[in-house]
Amino acid sequence: MENSHYIENLLAFLDHSPVNFLATHEICTRLDAAGYTRLDATEKWNLEPEGNYYITKNGSAVIAFALAKNPSCSGYKVISAHSDSPGFRIKPHAEMYCEGGVVKLNTEVYGGPILYTWFDRPLSIAGRVILRSDDTLNPISRLIHIKRPVLTIPHLAIHFNRAVNEGNPLSKQKDMLPVIGIVNETLQRDNLLLNLIADELNVAVDEILDFDLSLFDTTPACLVGLNNEFITSGRLDDLSMCHAAMSALLESTDTGMTRIMAIFDNEETGSGTKQGAASPLLMNLMRRINECCGGTEEDFQRSTAKSFMISADNAHALHPNYVEKQDPTNHPLLGGGPVIKVNANCKYMTDADSAAVFRTVCEHAGVPYQYFVNHSDVAGGSTLGNILTSQIDLRGVDMGAAIWAMHSIRETASVTDHGHIIKVFRTFYDI
Ligand code: ZN
Repeated sequence: MENSHYIENLLAFLDHSPVNFLATHEICTRLDAAGYTRLDATEKWNLEPEGNYYITKNGSAVIAFALAKNPSCSGYKVISAHSDSPGFRIKPHAEMYCEGGVVKLNTEVYGGPILYTWFDRPLSIAGRVILRSDDTLNPISRLIHIKRPVLTIPHLAIHFNRAVNEGNPLSKQKDMLPVIGIVNETLQRDNLLLNLIADELNVAVDEILDFDLSLFDTTPACLVGLNNEFITSGRLDDLSMCHAAMSALLESTDTGMTRIMAIFDNEETGSGTKQGAASPLLMNLMRRINECCGGTEEDFQRSTAKSFMISADNAHALHPNYVEKQDPTNHPLLGGGPVIKVNANCKYMTDADSAAVFRTVCEHAGVPYQYFVNHSDVAGGSTLGNILTSQIDLRGVDMGAAIWAMHSIRETASVTDHGHIIKVFRTFYDI
């Protein structure tokens, strides 16, 4: 497929995926369209060799798999990524009524966003809303994506803080609260947020039991640069890798090993939830596949011993204004191909063996590759790979696309890198 097609497809995916729940929904929609069968964890599974299936967890994680001809001991090829991004979540009892009728919403920071990139933007609300049902243990979950901008976080005028451009510490509780409107005859004072949700979902306010709602920037993803060489969007970390893994899986063919795409939630807060990479979600699924296909425990052990995982999460590209921040001899460039992430203290699962495997896959795909290591005086981040290997015994590599401004409300990636990474993932599944 043409790279321009993948890029248009990525931009649409980003715009349809303002938060983890919507990203997961969008992935499920595309899996459905490709003929994948959704499995219910509470029911008995009848899996057919070479069949295509997926499960979701909490509506915010999704694992899809394309079974091999002989799934019980053939091994797994896994690509993992994450659905969540840093930002702001709306607290319970969020409305704060201020002088002159102005209404703010009380929010809590999720993960590590670059706070000041959130000022003065047309923001809105997305996530899931939980509604009453007759089944106490299973209330109804509805997605919500308010597309029109309804919020903004106004910055203080420079005239009140002349030193603002010399560094300006921000309070998450005072400086970052979004404004949602001004109360008057037409805007009711009570249940302002719940009324908005009820209107949007066409339900009564007293049906709403709870919600997981986040803010997002309504500005669409787009290309920039003289030759349209850059992608600028919110949530490229890590939705660009989700998109690449999904695109590769949907085009891949059976070459004897079961192919898995595992999209986890809550990477930005350490992965420690039932839908995060530190949960037994992937391991339980792989065991269940093995059992459903008639495999023994020994078959499962043999299968995992043959397996390989690409943990795909974005990396820091060399920034033209801050070259000194990078390692002196390893400079990952935008457009330079997928980045293999290496860390002496094992924050990444990459070792010489797994890096060599990934390099060889890149060579087969005809795609360049590069390395990221931390500047030795700078503590780097961590990602999914190591967390997963504490649950399941897999070889694997940590890698990602090089991006600028990681955790800004808009990050920047390279158009050519995205095509390269899809090609490498596809080659990994197909060899
Ligand atoms: Zn990430």
